Amino acid sequence: MMGEKGKVYLVGAGPGDPFLLTLRAKALLDECDVLLYDNLTNPEIREWTRKDCEHVNVGKSPGKHSIEQDEISEILVDKANENLMVVRLKGGDPFVFARCAEEMSVLDRAGIKYEIVPGVTAALACAAYAGVPLSHREFGSSISFLTGHEDLKKESLRVDFAKFAEVGGTLCIYMGMSKLEEIVDRLLQGGLSPEKPTIVVSNGTLPTQRKIMCSLGELVAKTREEGLAAPAVIFIGNAIGLATKANWFEDRPLFGRRFVVTRSTAQNGEMKNKLQNLGADVLELPLIRILPTEDKKLVAEVFAGIATYEWGVFTSANGAREFLRIFFKAFKDIRSFGPMRIACVGEATASIFRKHNLEVELVPETATAENLATALVATDSLDSANVLVVSGNRNREVMVNMLETMGHAIVDILPVYGTDFAEVINSPGLERYKKEGADGIIFSSSSTALSFIEQEEDLILESEARVPIHCSFGPETSKTLRENELPVDLELEHPGIEEMIESLVQRFG
Ligand code: SAH
Repeated sequence: MMGEKGKVYLVGAGPGDPFLLTLRAKALLDECDVLLYDNLTNPEIREWTRKDCEHVNVGKSPGKHSIEQDEISEILVDKANENLMVVRLKGGDPFVFARCAEEMSVLDRAGIKYEIVPGVTAALACAAYAGVPLSHREFGSSISFLTGHEDLKKESLRVDFAKFAEVGGTLCIYMGMSKLEEIVDRLLQGGLSPEKPTIVVSNGTLPTQRKIMCSLGELVAKTREEGLAAPAVIFIGNAIGLATKANWFEDRPLFGRRFVVTRSTAQNGEMKNKLQNLGADVLELPLIRILPTEDKKLVAEVFAGIATYEWGVFTSANGAREFLRIFFKAFKDIRSFGPMRIACVGEATASIFRKHNLEVELVPETATAENLATALVATDSLDSANVLVVSGNRNREVMVNMLETMGHAIVDILPVYGTDFAEVINSPGLERYKKEGADGIIFSSSSTALSFIEQEEDLILESEARVPIHCSFGPETSKTLRENELPVDLELEHPGIEEMIESLVQRFG
């Protein structure tokens, strides 16, 4: 246990990119019983909590009935008094324009223990992710954090901006967008030159980050023209004049593009990470679920005769993984695998065996079950041979049929998992998908395509949404799409995650 019951953790969530959370914050989120969060905290981070963790949105946003500060403090006290472990998650750093002091004093008065976990504050994160230097030996020796408004309801500015015009150095202005004109006026009145280099970074560290560079004099017109909105940090000063238009974050090849991944939650990880590393915004819309289906009796029979099989045929990475899992549950020693030769539908499946130093003797050129069967038949080794086909519950009949009728093999089938359609209405990414759409939707199998078709009514895009192209992993998936009158806009010659990423970069990069 990292955290304690009956205690409140005031935790900084950083500016948006989940990777900018501290390890301490992550550990506390993993454990907590209750989570109170602000609107600016990334929903993905909130998913890290336990399934039974209670989530309370205490965000203040314009237009919505806002929970008063007193009410938030009260919830913190009540939940801690119920002997729960409470995380109060705040965007950025809890001590920077985040009313942490108020919450601390209420907790003090109530005699409740608390801890504070710092976070990366927006100004520092935006500067880093937009390539904006905040200090320089010659051009900037001080950095100020200022706030435009502290409370949406408060009319006037709290900060005397005219005085900060004299302070110089680099000014980092939070919450400045709704009073931008007034702020610029005061700075100019205070004597700051209209030529001062100015940069605005909105949605910093997120796939929707935008940056504009101009002079202070152009700032108001330029933000309007570009339609830049909150949350944003405004940087003003000579040091930031050294920033260039280029920056590592926005220049990544898939930055600004949005893709939908459709496999089961457990399988989407690798593709999602790779896309995100290239800058893409990734929506998860799991269309299938993988359920292990272990028929104990059948498994026992197959394992008892495992030495009698000449070929083990694996039609998916899932099947291979699941097979090895139950194999190692039954046997401690890899030698029990026996002389069975291994044939795999594609490289992803084969790599699972290679990790165990098991040689894979056959992988067809293109990863389809039919090609796998054809290649096996061509080895001329099937006649009266015992063959074990390890697979899921779909798309195996044709292959088994070919092995039996063309190769004259004696086939045993061992289903180790089942593929089920996952209900899309439960998907974390559905709301954004319908509202914003995407540049591409990636179908990794016929099952994902079929599930999409079956649930099309729940997937209708709103009129403003981007209409995604259909990206298919291979010929079988494409066939399913076309048979159902859906276009195939991109198809891989050799199915694989790397190949898909490469094609997307080629198309969109
Ligand atoms: N405690 C937070 C600040 C909360 S005030 C922190 O330390 O960052 C909210 C303001 O933070 C916004 O109005 C905006 O100025 C800034 N901000 C928060 N997240 C941001 C982001 N992703 N990009 C740009 N500015 C952001």
